[in-house]
Amino acid sequence: MSRQWSCVDRREFVSGILAVSAAIPLLAYATPSRRQKAHVVIVGGGYGGVTTAKHLKRYNPNLDVVLIEERPFFMSCPMSNHFLAGLMELTQLCFSYNVLETKHGVKVINDKVLGIELDKKAVRTSSGYISYDYLVLSPGIDYDIEDKPYYKESIVRNPPAFKPGSEHIYLKRLIEEFEGGDILITVPQPPYRCPAAPYERAALIASMIKRNKLKAHMYFVDANERPLINSEGFMSAYYDLYRDVATYITSAQIRDIDVQKRVVRTSHGDFKYDLANIIPPMRANRIVKEAGLLKKGQRWVEVNPLTFESQVKNVFVIGDAAQSYLPKSGYAAHSEGKLVAKIIDARIKGKEVKEEYLQMICYAMVSDKEAIMTETAFRYDAVSKRFMPTHREDNQRKESTAKRYEEWARGLWRDLFG
Ligand SMILES: Cc1cc2nc3c(=O)[nH]c(=O)nc-3n(C[C@H](O)[C@H](O)[C@H](O)COP(=O)(O)OP(=O)(O)OC[C@H]3O[C@@H](n4cnc5c(N)ncnc54)[C@H](O)[C@@H]3O)c2cc1C
Repeated sequence: MSRQWSCVDRREFVSGILAVSAAIPLLAYATPSRRQKAHVVIVGGGYGGVTTAKHLKRYNPNLDVVLIEERPFFMSCPMSNHFLAGLMELTQLCFSYNVLETKHGVKVINDKVLGIELDKKAVRTSSGYISYDYLVLSPGIDYDIEDKPYYKESIVRNPPAFKPGSEHIYLKRLIEEFEGGDILITVPQPPYRCPAAPYERAALIASMIKRNKLKAHMYFVDANERPLINSEGFMSAYYDLYRDVATYITSAQIRDIDVQKRVVRTSHGDFKYDLANIIPPMRANRIVKEAGLLKKGQRWVEVNPLTFESQVKNVFVIGDAAQSYLPKSGYAAHSEGKLVAKIIDARIKGKEVKEEYLQMICYAMVSDKEAIMTETAFRYDAVSKRFMPTHREDNQRKESTAKRYEEWARGLWRDLFG
């Protein structure tokens, strides 16, 4: 059995799965150099993966691009706080992968990647092996709770809603069923996915308490000294708009979570809750560790800052899983996906490209109608060999910024799925 698993059409692929399922150990790997065309395999159909896949096909329509994603459809975490607070429907955040196949020619495989064999240039799925010439990993995050076992049950009962999908749906259900009492939201130390997201979520939940006239008080317990981004804008919103319904506690480290008694013990005292959103520390998705791309003690994959290539040639790690000068955001994953698509296309054509300037934008709601924002430009400094940031924060909460936030998200979704 020496079936080549990438670059098969759907009918062949299905018969391939059936043929191979009983014989996975006997599979031979196709040698990339014997093939006519380069094959790119992308793991993870989130912000980074979808962008890379679509832009690669745009640059080079003849390329074989395979995207492997375990979820049946895409759900956006950006704007998901709107959904939790009742300002947006879930369906507005969800997109089908079909358009990537039908309109752009990306082969989308709905399967879980079980392992990556870098020495054999192959990815293992439950259906068999898929070989590659270029590999792009954008598998997002996992919760970093191995040495903090008290998070384990909390994650099940109090969904963090920092991974797209069922966690958000369950948290939304708990919010809808909440009839009053104490709400607890906690923030971990960085780096975690989307620095602004917990602060935005706290503001929108506090706003919901007021809008729905709930008999409730929110305790917002932060492991950090202040909001990690737009500190001035968040602090003034918390004080001006929510001081009667919320208390913000800073520099408080979680020591234990008792899910039976519904209490979180911290360095700044115990907090009882009726509804909790306990956001755990984070690290790169476990698949990159299992692939051997993390050194001992590392939580994120080291990459070349100019190319996002890992220490293994032609293996790129983008999005939240990478240790990068960029914040862990959908915008950054999208920019990195575009860059890596450009680099792979150029390499196939015998050229090299790199990016020395990138711009980021981050919006956050502070009430149902108003938002604040930060713009950061990152420029490469050849002397220090580092990207130097220049920030511009707009901490004046405005309805016009909230409108631009929504337009920004819709523009990004159009770029991914249009
Ligand atoms: C509440 C919230 C609000 C946010 N707001 C913003 C915002 O306003 N602006 C912004 O820019 N960013 C925002 N973000 C951050 C943004 O969602 C992430 O930074 C972005 O999704 C990272 O992209 P990624 O490709 O690295 O990971 P993801 O988008 O999470 O994609 C990873 C994909 O890999 C798949 N996967 C993982 N393991 C496997 C496997 N073994 N096999 C197959 N598939 C696998 C997952 O199912 C997932 O679909 C927010 C995040 C949250 C949680």
